[in-house]
Amino acid sequence: MMKAPLLMRALSSEVNLHILSILKSGAFNPRELARILQKDETDISRRLKMLERAGLVEGKWMRIGKKNVKVYSLKVDEIKISFKPTEVIIKTITDESYQIPMFDRKVPNVNVFFGRRAEIEEITSTTARVIFIYGIAGIGKTTLIAKIFNNAFWYQMSELDSFDYLTWQFGLYLNTLGYSLLLDYLRSGGKNERDISELILDGMETTKAEIVIDDIHKCPDNRIIQLFTYLAPRLQKARLVIISREKINLGLKNVMYFHLKGLSAEDAYQLLRYRGIKIRPEKFAEVYHITYGHPLMLLLFAETYKEGEIRIHNFLDFLFNEIYQKLKEDEKVMLQILSIFDEPLEYEEIKTLYKKKNVFTVLYSLVNKGIVEKRGEAYALHDLLKGFAKELVSIDEKEYYMKYINYLLGRKTAKAFIKAFQYAVKLRDEKKVKELIEIRLRKFKRVIQDFPDSYMQILDQIKDNPYVKGELGNIYFQKGLFNKALSLWLEVKDRVEGIHKADVLSSLVDVYIELNEFEKAEKYLKELKKLLTKTQDLEIQLWYYIQLTKFEYYKNNHKNALESAFKELEIVRKLGPYPELESLVLLHVGDIYIGMGMVREGIQYYSQALETAKAYNLTFSEHVSYMELTKAYFILKDYARAIEYGKKAVQYFIKIRNYRRAIDTLAYRCLSYVGLLKLEEAERDAKEMIKIAQTTNYPLAWAGYIFLGIIKESKGEKGDEYLNLGREKLREYPWLYESVMEEVSRVRRDYFDK
Ligand code: ADP
Repeated sequence: MMKAPLLMRALSSEVNLHILSILKSGAFNPRELARILQKDETDISRRLKMLERAGLVEGKWMRIGKKNVKVYSLKVDEIKISFKPTEVIIKTITDESYQIPMFDRKVPNVNVFFGRRAEIEEITSTTARVIFIYGIAGIGKTTLIAKIFNNAFWYQMSELDSFDYLTWQFGLYLNTLGYSLLLDYLRSGGKNERDISELILDGMETTKAEIVIDDIHKCPDNRIIQLFTYLAPRLQKARLVIISREKINLGLKNVMYFHLKGLSAEDAYQLLRYRGIKIRPEKFAEVYHITYGHPLMLLLFAETYKEGEIRIHNFLDFLFNEIYQKLKEDEKVMLQILSIFDEPLEYEEIKTLYKKKNVFTVLYSLVNKGIVEKRGEAYALHDLLKGFAKELVSIDEKEYYMKYINYLLGRKTAKAFIKAFQYAVKLRDEKKVKELIEIRLRKFKRVIQDFPDSYMQILDQIKDNPYVKGELGNIYFQKGLFNKALSLWLEVKDRVEGIHKADVLSSLVDVYIELNEFEKAEKYLKELKKLLTKTQDLEIQLWYYIQLTKFEYYKNNHKNALESAFKELEIVRKLGPYPELESLVLLHVGDIYIGMGMVREGIQYYSQALETAKAYNLTFSEHVSYMELTKAYFILKDYARAIEYGKKAVQYFIKIRNYRRAIDTLAYRCLSYVGLLKLEEAERDAKEMIKIAQTTNYPLAWAGYIFLGIIKESKGEKGDEYLNLGREKLREYPWLYESVMEEVSRVRRDYFDK
């Protein structure tokens, strides 16, 4: 039995609930959980221990190679937890149930609410699945929508947002509703916008999700708007509510545009009454005339009203004289701090920035006066007041930004890193920018893969800086824009130093190998080696050997490649836990052995890669290992095993829409079936390949026709029509056609031997 108070405490944290809902999809190691949730790894470990004490999860040590790794999973057998859109229902053995809201802290709290009967009626009765509500700041949009859609997933847009960040958040949210495809897709490195849009649509529809996007006018990434334009006419069961300062066109079909205006005179009057203001009708008429029933203005007015006096003629004067001037010094400082940051700040952040001890009292005084609002976990200055407060700033912005940057870096997450970078750019502090890029290269490698858009958006603001150019090159390379990357790297290679130079040089080697220009690759490899002699930096050594292995492998110098790969492995292990790379290197070692014809050794290393990937829940690497094992066992003619691994890999790669890898595996699985004389299964695989070929045009997929032809002939049916089709489709790829035929003849020989 578990202790209810501890249980309740464990469940009262949103992060913990998130952890639980992710563990639902498998066992995880703290590191990978930290990456998915964008949290610090030590924090996640602490939480897991607490959840373990509460009896909700179970940690097990696994031995991987020479290391012990702790892996956590849900203990669903002892306690029944069902994850619902906005709550987690826990049924203990005695069948008492608790309901814990999950996303409700994201939806702004609505404590007091007046009127809006007509608006509510109109919004709740529409058949449109998309509601676009717009109006000036402070008019009550957020409050109204939070009141109506109090169970929705609330997404607060900020100036720092980007398509990639938003899609990760959607992925996490849909995962808690039981739809894991989008998260799987993103975790595996999936980037295609079309795929992502389709998965979001599919996920929202199957789970009947309700999503609110607040402040979309702040959205800096046009692809987010494109996503909503795509979703708008297609949603049938899910609901999308968008809040904006300005009207943005998302098409006509299925969208209701709603312009929100002030409160009616009657409701405005009620609001003032509620705030303890008694006022004569003709005076009220005057106030209403000036405020137009604008609720925020009415509230601020109520805050300052003194019997008999109405000192509100001009709104800005009013804000300054009646609100700002009357604040205490400490309150003014805190207001200014809040105003210089783009996004709402969390309590811990405010505590770090505001130097004095009375943080709590000052902050709450501002909240009580209606000047600061609590939004989710963070505190926000209403935008209407922000612009105004910014004008009055007398604090030293630079000092606060620096402090914030250091605070953010302490959080050790990619998202925090990106924010920190944004402020360094804002300060135009080139030294800090260089320092941050070094931190990125060493500690936040995945930023380039997980958040390329957010990062690029910030880098673009100082794109003349040579260090920044190097980073932009990395993003372009990752996006497959090799030539763009190349020209940036060539431009800056002699203008940057230290680890930055090593990064540029190893990138140059990488891109030239990719472009099959081995002489140039070799030239930069040599330059990189020269750099090595001057440094003890393990990171730089690692980069060198990674490139060297690749280079030797492509030049068919398998022995040298192998030697270099082992060097990589040695350094990776010295660098500390680095499972993504470790399993990748193990796979490469396996590939090299296969290339040398030493299949058994290859299998040994693929299996090690598999173990590492499994221990750290690196799903993608896990399935790449299955794929390689399929190939290796096929070569060994152990068709049954090849099929066993092939099944896992094919299913996964199709699920995450990585059709290239799905096909690579399907081809081996199909032929393995042929080898085992399981012609029905083989035929199914061949047809699956053809189907994928028709939508992706991936050359190897067309081999499905050749396989189908062979299978038909083996069954005594006519197959030449298919064989011809396959030959036709592969005409442009003679080397591919040849190697396909070689594999085919391999199983065929077997087949005739039987
Ligand atoms: P917007 O989202 O349009 O900028 P908000 O919803 O944040 O505006 O509202 C501004 C302020 O007015 C908030 O402090 C909110 O509590 C208050 N408010 C808005 N609508 C109402 C209402 N119908 N009844 C009471 N207070 C309201």
